[in-house]
Amino acid sequence: MTRVFSGVKPTGHLTLGNYLGAMRQWAAEDQHRSDALFCVVDLHALTVDHDPARVRRLSRQSASLLLAAGLDPELCTVFVQSHVDEHARLSYVLECVATDGEMRRMIQYKEKAVRERERGGSVRLSLLTYPVLMAADILAYGTDEVPVGDDQAQHVELARDLAVRFNQRYGHTFVVPRATVPKVAARVMNLQDPTSKMGKSDDAGPGIVYLLDEPDTVRKKVMRAVTDSGREVVYDRQARPGLANLLEILAACTGGNPAELSGVYESYGALKKDTAEAVVEVLRPLQKRHKELCADPGYLEGVLRDGAERARAMARPTVDAAYRAIGL
Ligand code: ADP
Repeated sequence: MTRVFSGVKPTGHLTLGNYLGAMRQWAAEDQHRSDALFCVVDLHALTVDHDPARVRRLSRQSASLLLAAGLDPELCTVFVQSHVDEHARLSYVLECVATDGEMRRMIQYKEKAVRERERGGSVRLSLLTYPVLMAADILAYGTDEVPVGDDQAQHVELARDLAVRFNQRYGHTFVVPRATVPKVAARVMNLQDPTSKMGKSDDAGPGIVYLLDEPDTVRKKVMRAVTDSGREVVYDRQARPGLANLLEILAACTGGNPAELSGVYESYGALKKDTAEAVVEVLRPLQKRHKELCADPGYLEGVLRDGAERARAMARPTVDAAYRAIGL
């Protein structure tokens, strides 16, 4: 059976981008058709300035939102990365296969490093090596497919390269994974700056819809989304990125097609109104389920404990084999 692995980083509250670009497919498709693991990758949250208590809180909240989004622990494995030592164990071995040049070429590193420096902070070494840890996350489980948003495709490519290189040098050890990117909403953009993606790690802003935003907050954010000075509703990502983003969000929420939807609307206002309502409706069941889960913390504890145990048992043989192959 196809092995699928993916994760979310608890660096902030999960967003509509995380849901439409990733979590929704995991729940609707991946967990049913494959042997899937979904992970809250808390080690990755330490690569930038962080408050320890907040990371712990956001890890639990992210896990709860994964379940609220429809992941079923009877069908798939849901766990927290730091509960399974194999990730860090394998990451070191892969650091001995990766090169520093390859790390410095990663687009996300370049962008985030610039941002950290602009803030006057220093860049943590783990920010540079983070794609190796991500490769370890993926390779430890013999993963075939990694369903991610567009922004993560380069990192999955690195995991492939490392797997191939390791296998060539030290003997066949890893399955070579591939990224699968959703057809719609692979990249949900910031409502206030449609040239950058809607990312949870950014400072809370009016351009980001969080999964736990109240309906009125969602409406306000969508209604105030930046559009362009034109009047006609057309779908053109290059020339009209704000409008294209709204059409894509609406299409993703309603199962429509952005280009076709553009023909339905005569004004920006009507498009925004329908988009806002569609987002509110998509979030409603998820928020309800999250509230129920919050009322029963013991349940989540149990799911994460079982998940870690299952994950550990799956990862250990591969990581042990990698240690032996590389000479340990
Ligand atoms: P971030 O910190 O940027 O929110 P994560 O690394 O936690 O991202 O991402 C979890 C999943 O959500 C990944 O598969 C990622 O590709 C996807 N994702 C994140 N932001 C977006 C977005 N704006 N549009 C589409 N997919 C996204």
